Amino acid sequence: MNCPLETRENAALLVSHAARELAPDMAVRLDRHVAQCAACSQFIERQQAVWEALDRWRPEPISPDFNRRLYARIEELDRQASWWHRLTSPLRPMPARHAMPIAATAMLLLAAGVLMDRSRVPAARPVQAQVEMLQPEQVEHALDDMETIRQFDRAMRSDSPDPKM
Ligand SMILES: [Zn+2]
Repeated sequence: MNCPLETRENAALLVSHAARELAPDMAVRLDRHVAQCAACSQFIERQQAVWEALDRWRPEPISPDFNRRLYARIEELDRQASWWHRLTSPLRPMPARHAMPIAATAMLLLAAGVLMDRSRVPAARPVQAQVEMLQPEQVEHALDDMETIRQFDRAMRSDSPDPKM
């Protein structure tokens, strides 16, 4: 066969040959020519180098278990996020890093409960009602405490060099 590099049309044959896209019989004929033509041999070599470079450049195919690992990770994150599920499952082992957020949440819930409790109590509650709820010994203790504070206060005042203090 004539050298394909001598015509532009046939040069395309060499490109196709380097890409291994030629029909087998044509590839055999071209191989036979390239083996004895230095110009075609060099051309094919360069083309194959380009194709190999492109092959190496192509990204690695996604591993078959990529989806499985992805969904496992999503599931794990989802499990970590469902603190309520963990809070209501105290028998399950709980990583230490989850303890703090749950404790904080529990504190928030307690605070919310206290606030809700207070909102149920009338703000202008009669003093008499509060006093009635105290037991006699509680009142006694409270009076004792007040007396102790008063004595302490007096002692502090007498110790002070400034009489106004
Ligand atoms: Zn040639």
